[in-house]
Amino acid sequence: MVFKTFLLKYGEIGIKGKNRGQFEDALVTQVRHALSKVEGEYEVSKEQGRIYVNVQGDDNSFDPDEAVEALQKVFGLVGICQVLKAPVADPDVIAEDAVRYMAKTYGLAPAQGSAGAPGEEILPDADALSFKVHTRRANKQYPMSSMEVDALVGEKLLGAFPGKLKVDVHHPDVMLHIEIREEVYIYSKIIPGPGGMPVGTNGRAQLLLSGGIDSPVAGWMIAKRGVALDATYFHAPPYTSERAKQKVVDLAKLVARYSGPIRLHVINFTDIQLAIYEKCPHDELTIIMRRYMMKIAEAMAKKDGSMGLITGESIGQVASQTIQSLVCTDEAATMPVFRPLIGFDKQDIIDLSLKIDTYDTSIQPFEDCCTIFVAKHPVTKPRLDIIQKSEERLADVIDELMEQAVNSAETIRIS
Ligand code: ATP
Ligand code: MG
Repeated sequence: MVFKTFLLKYGEIGIKGKNRGQFEDALVTQVRHALSKVEGEYEVSKEQGRIYVNVQGDDNSFDPDEAVEALQKVFGLVGICQVLKAPVADPDVIAEDAVRYMAKTYGLAPAQGSAGAPGEEILPDADALSFKVHTRRANKQYPMSSMEVDALVGEKLLGAFPGKLKVDVHHPDVMLHIEIREEVYIYSKIIPGPGGMPVGTNGRAQLLLSGGIDSPVAGWMIAKRGVALDATYFHAPPYTSERAKQKVVDLAKLVARYSGPIRLHVINFTDIQLAIYEKCPHDELTIIMRRYMMKIAEAMAKKDGSMGLITGESIGQVASQTIQSLVCTDEAATMPVFRPLIGFDKQDIIDLSLKIDTYDTSIQPFEDCCTIFVAKHPVTKPRLDIIQKSEERLADVIDELMEQAVNSAETIRIS
C-alpha cells in the first residue's frame, strides 16, 4: 500500500482577500509544472485553503521520494505531507485507517487477534514510539467531537501495537493528524518546503547570469520571492569557449528547477570588449564593461517584459564591487537593480549554492569573458565622471555595437 495523496501547506502571511486566489492559482501552476518533470500522473486541486495532489494510476506509477523532491523546489510551499486519504466514515473505520497508516509509516506490525485479556495492561517497550492524536473536524456534521476521536483512535492504536506505542501529549515522537473534511486525511510527517512566494506572483526580472558561484544563487533568491526569471549571459568567442557557454546553460537549467522556464539570452560581447580594450584606459576596463552589460541586459529585460535586473554582486567582493564601483555600474541601468547577495560573505553564498546544487557546476574551470580582458591593477575607487569621460572615446562605435549585440542575441528556452 502506498499513500497516493499529498497535502501541501503554504504560508498565509499577507495573502488575504483577492491576492489569496492569485497566490493559490500561481502555486497550483508551479506545483503542476514541478510534477510534470517526474514520472507519474498527478491531479492537483485546491480546496478550502489547501492544495492536494492525487496520484493517478496504481501504486507503482510514481516514486514518492521523487515527487517530494520536486515539490521541495516549489516556492510558496512550507510543508509537504504524504497522507492516507479515505472517505468520511465511522470513528472505528477511521481508527482502522490510523492503524494502517502507523503500520506502514513506522514499520509497526499489528498484533494478531485481540491485545491481551480485558483489563490487562501492556507496558510499553523501552523503545516504544510516543505519539499523540490530533484531530481537526472541519466537517462539523461529523457526529463525534475532535477530542472523542483523539481518545478513540489513541486507544485503538495502543491495542493494535501492544508495547510498541505510548502516549505522550507534550513531546510526542509522532503527532498523528486526523483531518475530517470532505474526506478524511491522516498524516504525521511534514516535510519542509522551501518557503517564499509562488513564482509568477511578483513580476519578472532579468538575471545577469555568469558562470560563477554568485549569480545563480542571486537568481534563486529573487525567484524565491515570487519573481519569474529570464537571463542574459555575455560571452566573447573565440576568447571564451562553447564549453563555458554550456556551463551557463547548465546553471540556468539548475535554477529553472526552482524558477520555472527561463529565456536565456546569449550575447556576443566580443566586439564591445575589443572596442573598450582598444580605446579606454585599461584599469577601467572591468567597470566600463560592466556598465555596458547592464545596458544590454536592460534592453533584453524590456523585450521580455521584465521590471528589474538581478546581479550576484556583493559589497567588496572584488575591485568591481567596491561601493564606488557599484555606484558606477548602478548608474548605467535605469531599471532597479536587485542585488540579493549584497551583504553576504562568500562562504554564505557558497553554502547556499551547495544547498541549491549549483556549486559543482559553478566551479567547473572555464574562462569567463570578464577574466580575459582584465587589467592587472583595476581601479578600485572609480569616479563616475571619469568613467563617463572615458566612455566618450567609444562614442562613434558603441551605439551600433550595442544594437548589433542585442539584435544578434541567441535565445535559449530553458524549461
Ligand atoms: P563569482 O564571483 O563566483 O565569479 P560572479 O561571476 O557572479 O561570481 P563577478 O564576476 O564579480 O561574480 O560578477 C558580478 C556580477 O556581474 C555577476 O554576479 C553577474 O550578475 C554579472 N556578470 C558578470 N559576468 C557576467 C557575464 N559574463 N554574463 C552575465 N552576467 C555577468
Ligand atoms: Mg564571475
